[in-house]
Amino acid sequence: MKKALITGITGQDGAYLADLLLKKGYEVHGVKRRSSLFNTDRIDHLYQDPHESDIRFVLHYGDLSDSTNLIRIIQQVQPDEIYNLGAMSHVQVSFETPEYTANADGIGTLRILEAIRILGLVKKTKVYQASTSELYGLVQAVPQSETTPFYPRSPYAVAKMYAYWITVNYREAYGMFACNGILFNHESPLRGETFVTRKITRGTAKIALGLQDKLYLGNLDARRDWGHAKDYVEAMWLILQHDTPEDFVIATGITTTVRDFIKMAFDEVGITLEFTGEGVDEVGTVVSCSNPDYLVEIGKEVVAVDKRYFRPTEVDLLIGDPSKCKEKLKWEPKYDLAGLVNDMMNSDLQHFQKERML
Ligand code: GDP
Repeated sequence: MKKALITGITGQDGAYLADLLLKKGYEVHGVKRRSSLFNTDRIDHLYQDPHESDIRFVLHYGDLSDSTNLIRIIQQVQPDEIYNLGAMSHVQVSFETPEYTANADGIGTLRILEAIRILGLVKKTKVYQASTSELYGLVQAVPQSETTPFYPRSPYAVAKMYAYWITVNYREAYGMFACNGILFNHESPLRGETFVTRKITRGTAKIALGLQDKLYLGNLDARRDWGHAKDYVEAMWLILQHDTPEDFVIATGITTTVRDFIKMAFDEVGITLEFTGEGVDEVGTVVSCSNPDYLVEIGKEVVAVDKRYFRPTEVDLLIGDPSKCKEKLKWEPKYDLAGLVNDMMNSDLQHFQKERML
């Protein structure tokens, strides 16, 4: 039985990847940070009572800022594959906590690679490093591929740039099977609530159900290449099953503005929006509402811009070129953007409908 170790097991990708690997017959170990609040909502359904036999899902307390802890966990588990998904992953928050971000997202990756070397696991343990389209930042070419130069635009992206190159370096210096997946934005009903897509689908559901008046957002012109996290964790696994260690872009190849994502979310509940005004004065107003379950007034202003959500330096246009992963890994996503918005809206509507009934 193959053993996998996942850092960031409590996050969106950790939860979907754990699920996938358990279905593939792996023994899955996860590293989670201690918190005074419960932080395992996304993986609670995978929990096994330690008294059961055939335990295949095990959690370890740990932290990417603690080398000795990582060495101990890796020594104990002796994993065949490590997926380094742990990170402070919010771009805007990284401007507030740049040093912590560098430590966890940058040096954290080095700690894992060094642990493998110290423990003599270089030939046994494969490493997947969660790299990101944020590396392209102020984009140097459109679309972005494995050969496009990086130009990071946030403390998060700069930390991830170190992690990217140290992964390449350990592959070249020590012959490690260590690979970067350069994943473009990937979303789902499990996405953190402060990322723009989830903020929009939650806000839309609450507005439709009469639980919220207005949704405040930042830069509506920003464009992202959004895929479904379920499809993207499949790509992570494929990257480590490939015959040679290589870096891959994972993307849909389609880019959409934040504004259009908002329109699609409202469309899901039968509400048509119109945007007027510019910059901080732009607003989204209800033009029609075809669903009798959601009685939102025609002419009501439901989306507005708030300057506080603008970033000191922004990434305006991300669009990935997935040719290499399609050709070499035969990766084919199952969700398109409409399918993603539908999945997220259904989940958030269900959640808030239940809340309204309480
Ligand atoms: P990121 O690509 O990792 O930064 O993912 P996010 O979902 O946080 O942001 C995607 C884009 O949406 C960025 O260009 C943001 O500037 C833009 N955006 C516009 N309004 C908001 C908002 O209210 N919250 C967030 N998180 N992003 C916003």
